[in-house]
Amino acid sequence: MNTPESRGVVWLDSPSFPEAARDALKNAQLRGNLKRATTTIRDKRLQAAGELEDWEQLREAAEAIKKRTTRHLDRYLVQLEETLTAAGGTVHWATGAADANRIVTELIRATGEREVVKVKSMTTQEIGLNEHLAEAGITAYETDLAELIVQLGDDRPSHILVPAIHRNRTEIRDIFNAAMGRWGRPAPDRLTDDPRDLAEAARLHLREKFLTAKVAVSGANFAIADTGTVGVVESEGNGRMCLTLPRTLITVMGIEKVLPTWTDLEVFLQLLPRSSTGERMNPYTSTWTGTTEGDGPQEFHLVLLDNGRTGTLADTVGRQALACIRCSACLNVCPVYERTGGHAYGSVYPGPIGAVLTPQLVGVGGDTRNAAATLPFASTLCGACYDACPVRINIPELLAHLRAEVVESKRASRRVPSAEALLMKAAATVLDSPALLAGAQKVGALAARALSRDGRIGRLPGPLSGWSDTRDTPVPPAESFRSWWRENREGAE
Ligand code: SF4
Repeated sequence: MNTPESRGVVWLDSPSFPEAARDALKNAQLRGNLKRATTTIRDKRLQAAGELEDWEQLREAAEAIKKRTTRHLDRYLVQLEETLTAAGGTVHWATGAADANRIVTELIRATGEREVVKVKSMTTQEIGLNEHLAEAGITAYETDLAELIVQLGDDRPSHILVPAIHRNRTEIRDIFNAAMGRWGRPAPDRLTDDPRDLAEAARLHLREKFLTAKVAVSGANFAIADTGTVGVVESEGNGRMCLTLPRTLITVMGIEKVLPTWTDLEVFLQLLPRSSTGERMNPYTSTWTGTTEGDGPQEFHLVLLDNGRTGTLADTVGRQALACIRCSACLNVCPVYERTGGHAYGSVYPGPIGAVLTPQLVGVGGDTRNAAATLPFASTLCGACYDACPVRINIPELLAHLRAEVVESKRASRRVPSAEALLMKAAATVLDSPALLAGAQKVGALAARALSRDGRIGRLPGPLSGWSDTRDTPVPPAESFRSWWRENREGAE
C-alpha cells in the first residue's frame, strides 16, 4: 500500500488524526488485538523494570547521556566518521530522504545485485527506501517476522516494535497463504494459525533469502563515536544473519543515534530490552567495527541521515525527542494509542513519540492540510508516557510546546483572525477587567440557567456545542464567589 507519495516521515495520503481515529475506533477487531497485545507487553515491562533497584537512577543516567551527546552532536559525529573510516568502513552524509535513497541505490547498483535482505529499520521506513528501491528495479526482502507480515500483506507498520500488532494469528496465516509464494518459498500446505507453525513457515521462507543475499541493508540502534562501532539489538536472529552473511552491508542511521563511549552504551543495554519487550537482555545484540578480512561483510557503508533532525536540535525544548531509543514503552501505556492503533497517526512513528517527533521532522506550519499538525493534540496529557520512558523524555511538555507552535503557525498564516482567536481576545479583555468580568459572570449565569434542564446544561449553541457534546456541563451557581466574598467577608475584615 505504500506509494511514492508516502515517502518520508508521513504518509501523505493519510487523513488528519481526528478523522483517522474516528474510523479506527469503529474497528472492534483492531481494538481487541491492540488491547491484548499492549496489556501483555505492559505487564512484562513493569515486572522487568521492577527487578532493578536502580531503575530510576538508570533512567536519569540515560537522560543525562543523551542530553550531553545532543549538545555536542557535531563533535561526536565527526569522531564517529574518523574511527569508522579507520576501521575500514565508509561514511556517507545524507541531508534528507531523497539523498539517502540515492546513496543506498547507487551502492547496491555498484555491487551488481538486484535483491537485498533487510533488518528491521524504522529509519529506512522513514525515507521510504523499499519503494524507492522497487522503482530502481531492486527488491528488498524484510526479514523481521512482523515486518515480513507487513510486507506480504501490502500493509503499513502500526507499532515501533511490533509493526504487525494490529493483526491476529488467523489474519497472519491468511496473509502467508496468499502472498508468500509471490515473494519466494510458498507457505507449507495446510498451514495452521498456531504461532509455532507460523514462525516455522516464516523461517523456511526467509532461510532461502539469507543464504543467497549478497547485500544487506540495516538500521542501527546505536553507534559508538569512540571506536566506530555500530550495533543492532533484536530478538529473532534474522538481524544476525543479515549482518554477518552478505558480502556488503549498508546501514542507514539517524544522526541522533551516536553515543560517545561503550560505557554509555552499558546504560542503554539495560534499559532498552526491559522497556521494549520486558526482557532482561536482548536475545541478539550484534556489534561490528568496520570490516575484518575473511569474517563478515567485506564492505561496510554507514549512511548518516539528517532528514529534519538538525532542525529539531535547534529547538531547545523539542530536541528532547531526539533522545528516543525506540523502545515503544510509551505506545504500550498510551490510552489513545491503545484505542486508535498506529495507522491513525499517519506516520512511521506512531503513538506518543510519533505525536512529538513527526511534527518536528516534517514541520507543522505552512500547509493547513498538514496532518502532522494534528498529532500534538492526539493525547489526553495523562503523563503515562513520561513515566514509562526509559530516557525520561517529557512527552507531555513537548506536546504542549508543539500545540502552541501549531496555534501560532495557524494564526500567522491567516489574513483574517479565526472565530477562536477573536473569542480568546475578547476573553483576555474581559479577564483583564474586574468590572467586565463581574458583568460577564452575571450574563453568563443567566444564559446558562435559561439553557439548563434538571441541573445540567444540554447542548451549548453554535461552535460551543463541540465542548458540551462530549462533556457534562454543570449550571453555574446563582452567585459568584467574588460577590459572595464581597457580601460575607469584606465587611468582616
Ligand atoms: S519516547 Fe521514550 S518510551 Fe517512547 S519509544 Fe522513545 S524511548 Fe521509548
